[in-house]
Amino acid sequence: MRAALLTVPERRWECPNCPAIDVTREAQPHSRFHNCAGLAGLSAPMVPAGTRAKVEAVEREDYIGSEDVQYDGDGRPVMAVVTTRDDGNDVTVYAPTAHGRLG
Ligand SMILES: [Zn+2]
Repeated sequence: MRAALLTVPERRWECPNCPAIDVTREAQPHSRFHNCAGLAGLSAPMVPAGTRAKVEAVEREDYIGSEDVQYDGDGRPVMAVVTTRDDGNDVTVYAPTAHGRLG
């Protein structure tokens, strides 16, 4: 069953690392990603406008081997982007794609 909303609230998004802003109208909880100029082009989450937050890339430090990992525009392997807010944090993990066997 779907709830019918007469008006879908407008959500404004911004990025603490670059000038990107956006507006979405979506009834379901959602997040907004963009290719962030402030994080060397990584696909990073935006935060609701007015939120005090920082968004940081977490560089991958362990051995990469034959996995396909996410690199930023500077060629650094990035394992996650962490959004830290006053009330908690979110982690966006770039899961590496392993080659070879399954199971
Ligand atoms: Zn950005």
